[in-house]
Amino acid sequence: MRIISELQDKNLYYVGGVVRDEILGLPSLDMDYCYEGDAINFARTKKLNIIKENPSFGTVRVLIDGIEIDIASTRTECYPSPGHLPVVDKIGCSLIDDLKRRDFTINAMAKNTLSGEIIDYFNSNDDLKNKKLRVLHNRSFIDDPSRIIRGLKFSARFGFELDSETESLQKSYISNINYDMSYHRIKKEVKETFNLNSDKILRKFIRDGIYKLLGDNQQVPLIKGSVERLVSLINLHNPWLCYAGLFNLSNFELTKEETEIISSFKKLENRTFDTESEAYKIFRHFPDESVLLWGLVREYDLAYHYLKNLRKIKPSLNGNDLIKLGIERGKLYSEIFDYLTEEKIKNPKLSKEEELKLVVNKYL
Ligand code: ATP
Repeated sequence: MRIISELQDKNLYYVGGVVRDEILGLPSLDMDYCYEGDAINFARTKKLNIIKENPSFGTVRVLIDGIEIDIASTRTECYPSPGHLPVVDKIGCSLIDDLKRRDFTINAMAKNTLSGEIIDYFNSNDDLKNKKLRVLHNRSFIDDPSRIIRGLKFSARFGFELDSETESLQKSYISNINYDMSYHRIKKEVKETFNLNSDKILRKFIRDGIYKLLGDNQQVPLIKGSVERLVSLINLHNPWLCYAGLFNLSNFELTKEETEIISSFKKLENRTFDTESEAYKIFRHFPDESVLLWGLVREYDLAYHYLKNLRKIKPSLNGNDLIKLGIERGKLYSEIFDYLTEEKIKNPKLSKEEELKLVVNKYL
């Protein structure tokens, strides 16, 4: 944990993931600071280089050694409508009240920036040792169902399990979901979780009924092979969609690119192909993610073969070779290259000379 001397204060704490990761011996990318009291006032009194203040949340952004650091005031929150974003109740509350609003005990520890003392009000250390995810109160999932997906994410990242009480709270919420919720947070957590690229997560997502959080009109997909194996083949823009795209995402606000992937998959979904080259001709116009989704629910091996091999097949002849043959530049070139690619898919050992012969026979 990087110690910044300007930020050593008896009322200032590292909180959340950074404390958890330090105890687990893992590196942490994010440093979350929490000031017991008014963080804005603290930054002003300490004459820190303030770049942004947000009084309604009690947060302040400061610049130290070229790094932007957010400091939050301790705060309590309440949920006027369950499942939606909370509203700030009180800024400058006690540290324990701030930690109580967090998702799991393992994320509800603090470490004093001055003394280095670890503050553990909820036996978080025991839960870390026992590899358990435990919510802080019985309404936790009702207030914020995205915590169920966070639980799945942490269980995958750290190999932790839900403790038995938390598991029954999860089961009970899933059997009675309030679909009037903020899908923005659900999407964020689904993205982070599935971007871990783990088949095991997908199986658990289905087995534990967590997929039902995506909306009340879900069908369980019949998956024909390991998603992880397919995803690891290629460098995708949206790996998470190769998992989440198997479900109905109509409640999510999707970007243009994400919408394109889902609608392409819908177009492909019920298609079948008689030959590899027929599949190639169609797949090459679709995003990789859509082909991958098609493979998961249709023909795993064909999608795998396309993504691993077929898509890389190119003719040995190039434009200069066609010019040498006396063929004028134009539309015909792409037709010739398509023809040669198809022939090469049928016979991957096709040599340059044989390609030349094919072109001469067909086009000259
Ligand atoms: P990492 O950044 O390594 O994924 P993290 O625990 O820091 O883990 P963040 O999403 O950055 O995760 O959240 C920071 C902290 O905010 C968490 O440790 C937790 O204490 C709290 N937190 C985040 N999301 C929620 C939530 N939905 N409900 C309650 N507390 C939350």
